[in-house]
Parts: sequence; structure tokens; C-alpha cells
Amino acid sequence: MNAFEIDAFEFCRTNSSKEGGTPVAEMTRLGKECANTSGEVAWKVEGGSSKHGYPQMRLVVAGKVQLVCQRCLTPFEYEIDSSTFLLLGKDDADADEIEAIIDDESIDVIVGARSMNLMDLVEDEALLALPQAPKHGECPDTSLVDAAKNEKASPFAGLKGLKTN
Ligand SMILES: [Zn+2]
Repeated sequence: MNAFEIDAFEFCRTNSSKEGGTPVAEMTRLGKECANTSGEVAWKVEGGSSKHGYPQMRLVVAGKVQLVCQRCLTPFEYEIDSSTFLLLGKDDADADEIEAIIDDESIDVIVGARSMNLMDLVEDEALLALPQAPKHGECPDTSLVDAAKNEKASPFAGLKGLKTN
């Protein structure tokens, strides 16, 4: 049995919590989204119940991963820092019902199980925390991009010059 395997309902009922750190290299789905598999994701899962009385897990993931900038195509460090609440439904119908009752898009309702792998939840959360189009705040060296822009711009600049003359 996997050390991260839990009975999700029991975990919540007993207000259990688990935490740890997992190398990106051990999370294949996350690793695929990254420039390389360096880094580690620290995580914490806390069981409890929601204000409506449903089984609830708080999931916190944090860590630094290497992503590829979509603007300059070089890797950069991205800091994951995310915290979410997951409510547990007994089955699909129950999950749908809970979703309708809580009416809160920021809270995810999933179908809980007597045997769930925490690592899957942690990896899902880390994946959700990644930006859709990763980019540097400011790219370190944009000379290549700028050169390409100037090349494209020059014929138009030339035309403009002719018109005004
Ligand atoms: Zn960049």
C-alpha cells in the first residue's frame, strides 16, 4: 500500500493532516509541463468539514518549478503558491448536489473515495496552479525578438516615409 493512499472520508472525519515534499521528477504529468524536472513541491493536506457540513480537504502546494517562457522560449523559475478547498461528494450525483448548494465557483467538489492517492490530488493542484501562458515578467534578453520586430517593421516604415514626402 502506498504511503499516500488515504480513505478520504475518514481523513476528513478525523481532521487528519499530512504534509511532505515531492520532487518534480516524481510527478510525471507536472514534469511534462516544465522545462526540466528540477525542484520540489511542498504540500499539505488538511481534512475537516466545510461550513455546510460536508467533508472538506484543504490542499496547499508551494514550490519552484522551471517553465519555458512563451515569449523568449527560455526557461525561468516559477513559484507555485496555491491553496484550495476540495469538498467530497459520495458519488457524481452527490457531488453535483453539493456544488448546487454551496454555489461557490472557487470551491471544487470531487467524488471522494475510500482509497484515494494524495499525490494525485497534489499533482492536480500543482498543474492547476501553473499559468496558461507562462512568461517572464520581463524577459532577460529580448534582442533577438526586437531584431525580428524591427525587420518586419522596416518595410512599413519605408512606405510611411514615402507617403509623407
Ligand atoms: Zn521570457
